[in-house]
Amino acid sequence: MKLIDLRSDTVTKPTEKMRKAMYKAEVGDDVYRDDPTIIELEYKAAKKLGKEAALFVPSGTMGNQVAVLTHTQRGEEIILEENSHIFINEVGGIAILAGVQAKTLKGVSGALNVNDVENAIREEDIHYPKTSLICIENTHNKAGGKVIPIENMKSIYELGKKHSIPIHLDGARIFNASTYLNVDVKEIAQFADSINFCLSKGLCAPIGSVLVGSNEFINKARKNRKLLGGGMRQAGILAAAGIIALDEMTLRLQEDHENAKNLAEGLAEIPGIHLDVEGVQTNIIMVDVSGMGINGNQLADSLKKYNILINGSKDGNIRLVTHAYINKDDIDKVLKSFKNLI
Ligand SMILES: *Cc1c(COP(=O)(O)O)cnc(C)c1O
Repeated sequence: MKLIDLRSDTVTKPTEKMRKAMYKAEVGDDVYRDDPTIIELEYKAAKKLGKEAALFVPSGTMGNQVAVLTHTQRGEEIILEENSHIFINEVGGIAILAGVQAKTLKGVSGALNVNDVENAIREEDIHYPKTSLICIENTHNKAGGKVIPIENMKSIYELGKKHSIPIHLDGARIFNASTYLNVDVKEIAQFADSINFCLSKGLCAPIGSVLVGSNEFINKARKNRKLLGGGMRQAGILAAAGIIALDEMTLRLQEDHENAKNLAEGLAEIPGIHLDVEGVQTNIIMVDVSGMGINGNQLADSLKKYNILINGSKDGNIRLVTHAYINKDDIDKVLKSFKNLI
């Protein structure tokens, strides 16, 4: 019986086509810049996002950390949303690796308020660290896959320009954002100086993310990737899957969004389940099941019996994620299983 895995879009496995491309991939030593498949992926990624250059990295965390390390000096301060992945989920890396401190701001649906950002930028004062980077996240994971409006990104970018502060976009799911907005991904990418996006989530590649930016930025970032141990050798095997992720898998995300919407609508009708159906914009659904009289961990245990996997929680708040290996029938089955539990 098929396992319906709603824990994350990171559970997606490489497609048949990816595996074939990986088998055939031309490779070389990428630290010597000898891997033609890596070079092709980096070229395509830079072009697609409208930037000069790109760097393949083994994970989104490394891409973000390399970006912070490259944009900043030790002892400086960076501005981030308080629930951002870089602040919450990267093991305190910005402090350990770049040696910067975080100024966190409360966002609304993941979006930073431009006035708050402006107020947070440090003036010159003997007591103050320098503000050297502003980070944003689109789509915003902890806000439930919410898309940051382009207007908001534009005003933060312009503010950054005014103060000579670069913007880094954690665009792990930037193609979900461009799909939702129905715009070319460049429309979003234009309002950030560097962007990291994941090939390994909804795009189904087995491993990897890509960091994009100016030539100068990427040259420095390449050295910082080496510093972090991310200089890989015959990594073209991974890039071959990444190219398919970028060229083809970016085009099918609407399907995941529709499945998420259908799941959200169905769940909202079940007594004891609360969620903001309107707020489901992409492939992430935040659900409160405490009204069912159970917590997320108990729900996860019960759903296992129906071959459905979810991440549990101590309270009733759970996150469900749709992806390429979840289809319409699976959504129906999940809804039936929830109803059976009631
Ligand atoms: C998944 C994710 C990352 C990077 O995660 P890795 O597991 O290190 O690839 C970064 N930012 C956001 C918003 C994410 O969801």
